[in-house]
Amino acid sequence: MLSVENTSQRAIQDPSDLVPSRYALKVGNIDALVVSDGVLPLPTSTMATNVDPADLAKWLDHMFMPPDKFDWPLNVMAARSADQTILIDAGLGGQFPGFPRAGQFPRRLDAAGIQLEDVTDVIITHMHMDHVGGLLVPEVKERLRADVRIHVAAAEVKFWTSPDFSHTVMPKPVPPVLRETATSFYNEYRDRLRIFEDKHEVAPGVTVRLTGGHTPGHSVVDLISNGERLTFAGDAMFPVAFDHPDWQNGFEHDPEEATRVRVGLFRELAENRGLLVAAHLPFPSVGRVALDGDAFRWVPVIWDY
Ligand SMILES: [Zn+2]
Repeated sequence: MLSVENTSQRAIQDPSDLVPSRYALKVGNIDALVVSDGVLPLPTSTMATNVDPADLAKWLDHMFMPPDKFDWPLNVMAARSADQTILIDAGLGGQFPGFPRAGQFPRRLDAAGIQLEDVTDVIITHMHMDHVGGLLVPEVKERLRADVRIHVAAAEVKFWTSPDFSHTVMPKPVPPVLRETATSFYNEYRDRLRIFEDKHEVAPGVTVRLTGGHTPGHSVVDLISNGERLTFAGDAMFPVAFDHPDWQNGFEHDPEEATRVRVGLFRELAENRGLLVAAHLPFPSVGRVALDGDAFRWVPVIWDY
């Protein structure tokens, strides 16, 4: 029976559940789940590297965000199609000091009833540490199946053999850590990689396709079933992109191409009316893109219970 006493008891058992961190939805016959990996504080300067800092400050104030640091949301996805269980990106992991609020996806995936042992496929949108770091956590490595297939674009694997940071604007300690993490990921999983060129159907209705831009091998994932669709856009867009799609992000290795990719995906999603989820939009990051004249607008879904 529900009473004040046993509701508070439950809250004490897992206070983190009071802020929702997973959101399930159906895309036709595909079961999809967005899981928050937590948040990662970053300097706001990384959000727009090609604009006057005063314009960025004005936008941050307009959005009620602090001027110097912001919490970068981290979302990963899981999907079930036919007899396959697919993980899409893997969050930050726990091996990077200073980010205690990120790296939560393994525990939250468990809590949602998805066992890492059941994952048949992992799709990696790109090899930045906030997308592959979770696969380097010892308990995750131990639990993933020996025959798990990890899908990543050929261009991405090639890029990280000799990565170019010359067009990025990142906090100084970041590039070496990104490079080390990508190398560790490759070394750990090289035998389980399924490398694709442009496009690859991972499971019925689950297709990964190369976009480039953010990184040369950056890819997005389309879930398409029974006339419904959802695109997981990885790092093709960030919250600021709806107001300013041309503002370049400091983590983009080819910022001009990243802008073209972003605008192209926005137009495509406005046209096909499919759902959008992206790694760094605020959780649960499930919504649509509306086109108002030349401007893009984010339309979140009403939560479905
Ligand atoms: Zn990212």
